[in-house]
Amino acid sequence: MSTAAQPVVDPEAIDPYALDREGLEALVAELGQPRYRADQLHAWLVRGVDDPGEMTDLPTGLRERLVARFTPTRPELVAHTVADDRHTHKLLLRFPDGEAIETVLMLYPQRATVCISTQAGCAMGCPFCATGQAGFRRQLTAGEVVRQVVVADAALRSGAIGEQDLPEGAPSRVTNVVFMGMGEPLANLPATLATVRWLHDPDGFNLSARGITVSTVGLVPGITKLAELGLPVTLAVSLHAATDPLRDDLVPVNRQHPLAEVEAAMAAYRRVTNRRVSIEWCLIGDVNDDPEQADNLAAIARRLRAHINVIPMNPTPGVRWKEPSRTRTQAFVERVRRRGAQITLRDTRGRDADAACGQLLAAYTLGAGTRLPAAVGAADRVDAGLALTSLGPQPTEGPAAPDTPGATPDTPAEAT
Ligand code: SAH
Ligand code: SF4
Repeated sequence: MSTAAQPVVDPEAIDPYALDREGLEALVAELGQPRYRADQLHAWLVRGVDDPGEMTDLPTGLRERLVARFTPTRPELVAHTVADDRHTHKLLLRFPDGEAIETVLMLYPQRATVCISTQAGCAMGCPFCATGQAGFRRQLTAGEVVRQVVVADAALRSGAIGEQDLPEGAPSRVTNVVFMGMGEPLANLPATLATVRWLHDPDGFNLSARGITVSTVGLVPGITKLAELGLPVTLAVSLHAATDPLRDDLVPVNRQHPLAEVEAAMAAYRRVTNRRVSIEWCLIGDVNDDPEQADNLAAIARRLRAHINVIPMNPTPGVRWKEPSRTRTQAFVERVRRRGAQITLRDTRGRDADAACGQLLAAYTLGAGTRLPAAVGAADRVDAGLALTSLGPQPTEGPAAPDTPGATPDTPAEAT
């Protein structure tokens, strides 16, 4: 068999988006070039140009040497769906090794938010989450995470998203980034921290730290590391349950980092960064929408002075749970609010910066009606637990109102 066609893997090959400013400076120094060449190179990368051949202000010799060193991990755009009256653009990107991930661009007047993925799949196994059901595939590199923002930004800057697909007043560049796509950002700390730094670089992408939100399932060591970065990045913790037994099932990593530990880490994050933390709550009918959960959630949020975002559960293939009825949703939100916590009900369409992602790939890879073992097991446990509880004395609220499918999906985000 001939080996002539075998690709040569160059161990020196570099994905340019994996390099921060210091990395670029080291590279140009190694190539015998003055430091300002790194600034020029960086400026091209920020604008979405990764081919040194196109970097016209660099000397030809340097361009050629960079071509030899760079192996950009260019993802292929497999699908681009436009939803929500042109406000939501879901991009399915496939990397050269075949792994596909989701990046979502959400557009508003004066604001363009990109929701990025940090892993292909996720190992955390939350039973209501489409990404969690598919399991963990691999970590994304820093370059692959940064690239998602650059792709979305370049699409806005270059007009690749046509005017007919843009809502009125949409900005021409990315203003906010949320780590709420596929994967657990704090289980891929090197890439997450590198991406935050890259995005925040005032001489580079120049995104305000306040415009960056990292969402985590509550990995305590990662929260501490994020705080050590010294940037007031918004921390959002996906709580979903305010008692340990329920959270053990809804967010299995709670068994390693139970609620009290997560709450302490959130309090410390707030102290160190002086930044308000958020609590994410995926509201699931007859699972975490009862008065006991509402009261415990309100107590945690008040102690932390945290803001709660409620996201009615998006349907997940193979998972029998769904969002509660509109009446029950309102009752939950009102109860938490009456107890003095700040809470916002988000809509379910992925419109808001704090909305969930991860559904597009699931729709691609899982057929409707698939039953997923992890989700079914956890759902059985939770439902069995609730069935037993329901034999005992009930909290104040009456029986759940009948579900009204389709009632909430069109509800706009509520202002607070
Ligand atoms: N792994 C991180 C970030 C990605 S998930 C985390 O869990 O925080 C982003 C958000 O989407 C999380 O708050 C997650 O709980 C939520 N989410 C996942 N599946 C959902 C679903 N089916 N409906 C609504 N929100 C969901
Ligand atoms: Fe992973 Fe977040 Fe989904 Fe849980 S909710 S499985 S942590 S992506």
